[in-house]
Amino acid sequence: MIHYKSKEEVEIIRTSALLVSKTLGMLAAEIKPGVSPLKLDKLAETFIRDHGGIPGFLGMYDFPNSLCTSVNEQVVHGIPTKKPLENGDIISIDCGVFMNNYYGDHAYTFEVGDVSDEIKQLLRVTHESLELGIAACRVGNRIEDIGHAVQTHAEKHGYGVVRELVGHGLGKSMHEDPQVPNYGRRGRGKKIKEGLVVAIEPMINMGTHRVKHLSDGWSIVTMDGKPSAHFEHDVAVVDGNPVVLSTFDYIYEAIGTPEYVKAFSR
Ligand code: MG
Ligand code: MG
Repeated sequence: MIHYKSKEEVEIIRTSALLVSKTLGMLAAEIKPGVSPLKLDKLAETFIRDHGGIPGFLGMYDFPNSLCTSVNEQVVHGIPTKKPLENGDIISIDCGVFMNNYYGDHAYTFEVGDVSDEIKQLLRVTHESLELGIAACRVGNRIEDIGHAVQTHAEKHGYGVVRELVGHGLGKSMHEDPQVPNYGRRGRGKKIKEGLVVAIEPMINMGTHRVKHLSDGWSIVTMDGKPSAHFEHDVAVVDGNPVVLSTFDYIYEAIGTPEYVKAFSR
């Protein structure tokens, strides 16, 4: 069942989402070759608690950390390790916050040092896919219109759209109805209504869309070992239109706005 939110609830969720945004902004300044994902995880946990929140992922489904850190071919749900990041890596950091009884949940894929042009394009297209998905999240459309927009753009560039993992409703629970796949057919799925709040999160692979689980029980990696990117925003439908509750602006303040973002307007 979908819980549609009042405007007051949307504002509370915005507060949780923005604490995730600030956490990602804090981490952005720390990400460089030699730094371990586990160190980033500890920094995030301290930062979230210092700002009155509770790490949303820690202990959820028995997940052991505050961040999911997914490096290179890891798609999502990577467990932070002591293995230092290397020049040319990418790392998707997914973070959740629980505050005032509501969750925020969003993610960004960071470049570590100098990455290849091939990877820069993957990041650009994944970010654009997220923006196109957000634009489709409006009254008059249906849920699969979101995924259709994401999938069409990603596949146009020859990339694989992960099927096994999807976006989701967000509120008093981290994962609520409806599921928001990153693929779909135009005009299919539930009608998008006022008060819908969803996390839209394209997971786009450079190669095959197929993925597999690692033996740690959490990490999901691409079947062909090629890199994968992941961007996630929390989006509310207010007055019929999508309102993005989270922001990458704290990240851009820390490390500068990527060219591909400057070139794209919502
Ligand atoms: Mg997330
Ligand atoms: Mg999510």
